[in-house]
Amino acid sequence: MPLILNEEQEMLRDSARGFLDEKAPVAALRKLRDANDPDGFSRDLWKEMAEMGWAGIIVDEGYGGSGFGFVGAGVLAEEMGRTLTASPYLSSSILAATALKKLGNDAQRQENLPKIAAGELLYALAVDEGAKHGPAKTAMAAEKHGNGFKLSGDKTFVADGHVADKIIVAARTAGSPGERKGLTLFLVDSKSNGIEVERTQMVDSRNAARIKFDGVEATGDDILGEVDGGFGALEGVLNAGRAGLAAEMSGASQAAFKMTVDYLKERKQFGTEIGTFQALQHRAAHLYSEIEIAKSAVLKALQELDDNYGIAGAVCSLAKAKVGEVAKLASQEAVQMHGGIGMTDEYDIGFYMKRIRVAQEMFGDPAFHADRIAQLRGY
Ligand SMILES: Cc1cc2nc3c(=O)[nH]c(=O)nc-3n(C[C@H](O)[C@H](O)[C@H](O)COP(=O)(O)OP(=O)(O)OC[C@H]3O[C@@H](n4cnc5c(N)ncnc54)[C@H](O)[C@@H]3O)c2cc1C
Repeated sequence: MPLILNEEQEMLRDSARGFLDEKAPVAALRKLRDANDPDGFSRDLWKEMAEMGWAGIIVDEGYGGSGFGFVGAGVLAEEMGRTLTASPYLSSSILAATALKKLGNDAQRQENLPKIAAGELLYALAVDEGAKHGPAKTAMAAEKHGNGFKLSGDKTFVADGHVADKIIVAARTAGSPGERKGLTLFLVDSKSNGIEVERTQMVDSRNAARIKFDGVEATGDDILGEVDGGFGALEGVLNAGRAGLAAEMSGASQAAFKMTVDYLKERKQFGTEIGTFQALQHRAAHLYSEIEIAKSAVLKALQELDDNYGIAGAVCSLAKAKVGEVAKLASQEAVQMHGGIGMTDEYDIGFYMKRIRVAQEMFGDPAFHADRIAQLRGY
């Protein structure tokens, strides 16, 4: 398949760009941060996004969604990355929607997908328990209790965990931390007895939480997919999240690059624009080429999720690793080429560096994904 968007996807991109430039510029994130907003995003804006079909972008039309698939979802994530839009899009519309679409039974889909598409309920995915991403490291226990289970353990870096109405959580029904076998996914209500949520302040001013589970009861109806066989299912959901994050970082890199080039054309030194100096032109040209390669890797990952969901892991890892490196380069070059002002809070460029740093780490940094590709290839 060619690595270009079709006409419909281009229209989606253009309308999203216009909307976000107007309604969610970086100034909106700055305002949420400065006000220490308890939600960390605008519920009114999220409602508008849902009305445009964004919340249900991968949800099929039969469940109230707009059925654009993963490429459409990535197009929106990329645009949100450009303006650093804070919203529960990744958690609800990519991660939870993928989990329910791919793993949910009829009743679970019927119950949840229309609510995701309408933006009516917010969802979060709770996987990690330590500083570094690693689904197999899951230690949280799901012990048999009557006909159901009791969940106990701590989750960390749960994006949108403090505003989520429902939480998809990975727990261990068998095996020990480090093993792939024995994981099961549960969909629980965030208001269930035994759940304690603490919001954490991340460097990117976006939403995350630590969540403690203390004997939280789950029934058989709350299980998403297979008991003990959840690792592969979780990997599929995470692949979608990784591609979404890669798309977002790609958008952020493109925006940081544009701001930098604009600055090089405007800042004068020795009576001329600094962008006329070859040393800076070479750095800008190198970054431009890297960003173009990263864009292709992201689109390929999104296409693969749409066409070959079950085997999209390697190319999603490739996209997350490549864009993770390129986005780091883009944000560092941006701050350096802006000179002293790049260090200041007054300028937006630092917001890009901070969001990129968090997105780079979430669901696996470039080293994690390089290792995953090596393992998938049998090294
Ligand atoms: C936190 C912090 C700590 C600092 N600590 C110190 C310190 O301890 N000691 C100290 O002396 N200074 C310090 N500085 C100042 C720092 O050295 C200057 O901010 C830095 O030299 C950047 O200069 P500028 O802001 O004028 O950037 P600009 O001159 O606007 O530079 C922007 C970009 O243009 C490039 N550029 C500029 N002029 C040319 C040119 N003629 N040809 C080609 N490219 C060019 C730069 O390399 C950069 O990429 C500090 C600054 C900060 C923010």
